[in-house]
Amino acid sequence: MDHSKPTRRTGIFFHYQDGERLRDFPEALAGVLNRDNVFLYDAFYPLKPPSSFELEPISEEVLRQVHTPEMVSEVKRSQAFQGALFSAAGTVAAATRIWRGEIDNAFVFTGYGDHHAGTDFYGGGCYFNGAAIAITQLRRHFGAGRLAIVDTDAHHGDGTWDIFEDDPETLYMCYCSGGPREINNKVNVHVPRRTNDEQYLQLFDDTFVPRVTAFRPEAIFWNWGYDGTQGDYGSLGITADVHIRLARTIKSAAGRVCQGRLIVVLCGGSHRYLARQLIPPIIGELAAQE
Ligand SMILES: [Zn+2]
Ligand SMILES: [Zn+2]
Repeated sequence: MDHSKPTRRTGIFFHYQDGERLRDFPEALAGVLNRDNVFLYDAFYPLKPPSSFELEPISEEVLRQVHTPEMVSEVKRSQAFQGALFSAAGTVAAATRIWRGEIDNAFVFTGYGDHHAGTDFYGGGCYFNGAAIAITQLRRHFGAGRLAIVDTDAHHGDGTWDIFEDDPETLYMCYCSGGPREINNKVNVHVPRRTNDEQYLQLFDDTFVPRVTAFRPEAIFWNWGYDGTQGDYGSLGITADVHIRLARTIKSAAGRVCQGRLIVVLCGGSHRYLARQLIPPIIGELAAQE
């Protein structure tokens, strides 16, 4: 092993949930969990006693620092509440453990994603905006400043945009089919509805890498959706391989600009085989020597 290159400590934040897409997990993580630098923080795993859970829920007060009390109450009355709560809690726990120096980067399994949840609205399978809640917590409790979110789900992150629209200290780069737009470091990068791997990755390299390098955030949140993969519901014509290559590019940028601090938050994507095919190697990239 070359000790001049860092090996990052990677946290996996997982809560057990029903449903098709993550049915192979956590078993499918066997190949990455055996590494010395990979740690699992979980909740609701039916085979484990509750006392061994390491993922705690977050309070309503914490939710209300991003979302209105009315919205929080509405989600609380829905069937999705517990899943939405632990999805956001995973992202908050990941960020907190990184700031405490326990891990360097993280992969957060979510039942419900982030980016369609705004200050007072939600939809499209998103209830609470975990990255936004984590950012608020980092600033409140650790004095964090500039932070970045990069969003490669196929759809526009209207919720994340809404929450940070007036905040130039949060860089948000959204790759979707909406037109190019920019305000206060909220950047929409237009992706053609039909593209291919090389075009997509070139567009990403040309736009994300220089922008995040110049911005110098203290951490990068990656709202990672695989719904743009061929055959999934937001298909852009890209193959599964794009996601692994994005993981390398984003991890390398985090290594250069923010000591490797990177939090991958699972967003859209429906196919179980793609989750199984992609999530273990993406975590493998996070945990790989640089
Ligand atoms: Zn999507
Ligand atoms: Zn967008």
